[in-house]
Amino acid sequence: ENARRDFVSNVSHEIRTPVTSIKGYAETLLEGAMEEPEVARTFLETIDRQSERLCMLVDDILSLSRLERSEQLADIPFEKARAGTLVEAAMRACTPKAERQGVRLHMSGTMDAEIRVSGTLMEQAIINLVDNAIKYSDTDADVRIDVTQTADEVCIAVHDNGCGIAAEHLPRIFERFYRVDRARSRMLGGTGLGLAIVKHIMTVHNGSVSVESKPGHGSTFTLRLPSASATNTIN
Ligand code: ADP
Repeated sequence: ENARRDFVSNVSHEIRTPVTSIKGYAETLLEGAMEEPEVARTFLETIDRQSERLCMLVDDILSLSRLERSEQLADIPFEKARAGTLVEAAMRACTPKAERQGVRLHMSGTMDAEIRVSGTLMEQAIINLVDNAIKYSDTDADVRIDVTQTADEVCIAVHDNGCGIAAEHLPRIFERFYRVDRARSRMLGGTGLGLAIVKHIMTVHNGSVSVESKPGHGSTFTLRLPSASATNTIN
């Protein structure tokens, strides 16, 4: 109940910021700024940016709420998928952002490893990690996605050489709205929910997500899933 109350209060706070900004700029436009085309354009661009942020926030909150319901109902249909296909799709989705920032995306490993997943959700988890790896890297950097397979597990690891995360923050970064640097996350268009979504996606798949990081050197986020052959044995 406490966690729920905290979440509602955090959500209200997060939503209030863009709404206040949109309202302020709209009012200023109506009070006369719209007569000055140059000023009006800047204000409208801010309104557009803040509305986009609001949409991303609402989308992420809805994703979390759907995942929580699915966790209880265990109603997500799983299908056999090739890890490489999911990684390639996630890389395609992140390529425009990577190119804008001058980040090169690479993939390596056992692309033919098979997992039982909801393809849409698993692709989303990989996208969230690659998106962060790009966001928290400098320009002219490399991000690598590596797939490994053991007898009963498939791991998808996303490595970056970005800013890294100090040890004291590591236990908390999967919490909703927890950010190491709030201003930087906001500036980069983050909602603070990406990793919480990844964690829930891994829970519905009986998998896990972990992180290793060194400030100034980079981070590795690893998704672990039972391999499809291991799941078959259990069934
Ligand atoms: P955000 O929208 O702020 O990126 P996330 O839930 O995706 O929210 O991540 C939570 C926080 O964890 C981020 O604000 C950032 O401080 C930290 N973080 C996540 N991924 C990385 C990364 N690859 N490198 C450095 N810091 C990261």
